[in-house]
Amino acid sequence: MKIYRFRRDTEIRMGVLREELLYPVKGSIFSDFTLDDDPIPIGEVKLLPPVHPTKIVCVGANYRDHAAEMSRPIPEEPLLFLKPPSALIGPFDSIVYPEMSQRVDYEGELALVMGKTASRLREEEAMSAVLGFSCFNDVTARDLQKKDGQFTRAKSFDTFAALGPCIRTDFDPAEAEIKTFLNGRLRQSGHGRQLIFSPAFLVSFISRIMTLHPGDVVATGTPAGVGPMVPGDRVDIRIEGIGTLSNDVIANSR
Ligand code: MG
Repeated sequence: MKIYRFRRDTEIRMGVLREELLYPVKGSIFSDFTLDDDPIPIGEVKLLPPVHPTKIVCVGANYRDHAAEMSRPIPEEPLLFLKPPSALIGPFDSIVYPEMSQRVDYEGELALVMGKTASRLREEEAMSAVLGFSCFNDVTARDLQKKDGQFTRAKSFDTFAALGPCIRTDFDPAEAEIKTFLNGRLRQSGHGRQLIFSPAFLVSFISRIMTLHPGDVVATGTPAGVGPMVPGDRVDIRIEGIGTLSNDVIANSR
């Protein structure tokens, strides 16, 4: 099942996609819901980020090849940082290049979306609290990440967390193929089996630190091949079985 969040006119709804038609959700995607039998063509709506997280938990250096390109050691435990929900954008929204940075990178990632409240879960039970998976762009001001020595500023600018296009349930993250394209050219290619820490391990580990709520997002890290974007570029993150998250980059005009 592919779950979208969308706006049509002034109304914001969730919907399940079947053959290019969105069937609006009645109820909550986090508990029980039924589908409206009056579908809307997906081309007639504005797609939004599929959830409203209370927090976005990101994992650094979770692929060996990316750790190597960043000259970071292979971590013994997941290296976590947070992005604020204010950074979130959805499909076809613009990534705004901040004035403070001269080097802004894409990081294509597999993200998971929590479906249930998760606290102190064992690894074996972690996936039962996950609703599904999505594509994520962990946009990073690389120069500020190096300059600051910690991640908050570099990772937290408005528009630096692109999520979408949907939440795919019934998806095996071990089979995920994550590809990032810059202006149509392949720049990153990773596979779920290459993750140092699996989604189940990550959810368990994070839930022993902070309670995860329905809709919270965990981004599982980026494979090798990160690189810069400039205003005018378009970045597409494609995961087979989920879809393509497309965003353009614009200059900050303010
Ligand atoms: Mg990342």
